[in-house]
Amino acid sequence: MVNINELQGMLDLCSRCGNCQQICPLYAEVKQETAVARGKLHLISLLVGDEINPSSRLQQILDFCLLCGRCSSLCQNGVPSDTLIVLGRALVNQSIPKFKHKLIRYMLRKERMKYSFHGLYFTRKMRIDMPLQWVGKMKPYWPYYNLITSNLKKRPLTESLPKVTEISQSKKQKVGYFIGCMNNFISQSVGQSTYSIITKLGFEVVIPDQKCCGMPAWTNGDLKLAEELVQLYVYTFNNSNVDLIVTDCASCGHSLKHLPEFFLKEEGRQFQTKVMDISEFLCNYLEPSFLRSYEGAISYHDPCHLRYGQKVIDQPRNVLRLIPELELRELNDPGCCGFAGTFITSYLETTQKFGMQRAKAIIDSGVKKVITSCPACQLQLDKNLKDLENSVEVLNLVEFVDRLMK
Ligand code: SF4
Ligand code: SF4
Repeated sequence: MVNINELQGMLDLCSRCGNCQQICPLYAEVKQETAVARGKLHLISLLVGDEINPSSRLQQILDFCLLCGRCSSLCQNGVPSDTLIVLGRALVNQSIPKFKHKLIRYMLRKERMKYSFHGLYFTRKMRIDMPLQWVGKMKPYWPYYNLITSNLKKRPLTESLPKVTEISQSKKQKVGYFIGCMNNFISQSVGQSTYSIITKLGFEVVIPDQKCCGMPAWTNGDLKLAEELVQLYVYTFNNSNVDLIVTDCASCGHSLKHLPEFFLKEEGRQFQTKVMDISEFLCNYLEPSFLRSYEGAISYHDPCHLRYGQKVIDQPRNVLRLIPELELRELNDPGCCGFAGTFITSYLETTQKFGMQRAKAIIDSGVKKVITSCPACQLQLDKNLKDLENSVEVLNLVEFVDRLMK
C-alpha cells in the first residue's frame, strides 16, 4: 500500500534544518528529538532503508504526534511531515497491529459506525456503563467517555434532515453537505445550524447517505480503509451532481481537501476543488444585513486541521467581523486543544495538559464566549472550562451565526 519510492522522495526533501523544533507543541513539552518531525522523519528513513526494524518503541514514537500539521505548513522545504508520519505508522502498524487499530477498523467498516453509536447510546441510557468509571484502566478516560456518550443522540441527524431541500426558483448553486460523524451523532445542533444557514441563504441543499470521512483510519495508518472511505464519499457526492461540497468539521474538511488527491490522483483533485469549509462559504455569501448585532467580546479558537491543515485562518474571523458591534479578541497564541483524534487514547496526560492551557488562555482573554469550528475542540474546551468552574460558553461558528441571523 505504501509506495516506498514516493515515500523516500518526500523524506529526501527534509534538509534536517530543525526549524520544526520551534513550532512543534510536543517538542516544546518534552524537548526530545523523537517528538519533533525531523527526528521522526529520520527514523522513518532508517526504516525504509531497512536499517532498523518495526518495533513497539518506534510505534510509540510515531504515535506521539498530534498530526496538527504545524510542521508541514511552516516547513520552508515543503516537507509534508504529517503525511509522512502517517505513512510511517502504516509501515509499522502492519507489522505490529494493536487492539486500537483493529477496533477502529471494525467500527468504521460497512454500517457498523451507526450501530456502534446506537450501542453506546443504549448502554448509556440504561446506565449499564456506570461501573466503568471505577475500573482501573478506564477510570482516567471516564470524563471523556462520559462527555461523549452523554451527548450522543438516538438517531443520526441525517435521518431527520431532508435528503434534498429545493428552494423554489433558486438560481444559486446546489450545495452538498458533508456532515461528519461527530455532528451527525453527537453535536447535532451544529449540523442543524449549518443546514439552517445554507437554506436561509437560498441555496439548495443535498445530504447524500454518508459514512466516515476516513480521518480516523488515516491517522491510524490504515490506508486501505481510508482509501475505501474516500472512494465512497467521492463517488456519492459526484453522483449527487452538486456544485459545492460544504462541511462544518475541521477534520472532515482536512480529509475532503487532501485525501482524495492522495488516493485517487486526478479524479480526487477535481473533487477537492468543490470542497469548502463553512467559513469559506459564509465569507462568500453572508452579508452584515442578514445579521443582528452582538454587543460584547468573543474569541476564536483555531482547530489545527483548519488553521494548519487547510490554511483557513482569516475566513472564520472575517465571518465574525460581519456581525455588527462584535469585538473579536485574539487569544494569546493559536495553541492546540490537545484532543487530536485518537491521540487521547495513548497520551491522555498531554491531552489534559493542553486542554487546561487552552481553557486558561480563554479565561485570561476575559471573553464570555469562545467560537471554534471543530466538534472535538468544542467538547475539549467546554470540558476544561467547566473543570475550572468557568462559565465561558463554547460555540461552533455556525451555531453563533445562526442565532444572530434575521
Ligand atoms: S521537516 Fe522541514 S523544518 Fe523540519 S527539519 Fe525537515 S526541512 Fe527542516
Ligand atoms: S504534526 Fe504537530 S505534533 Fe506532530 S511533529 Fe508536526 S508539529 Fe509536532
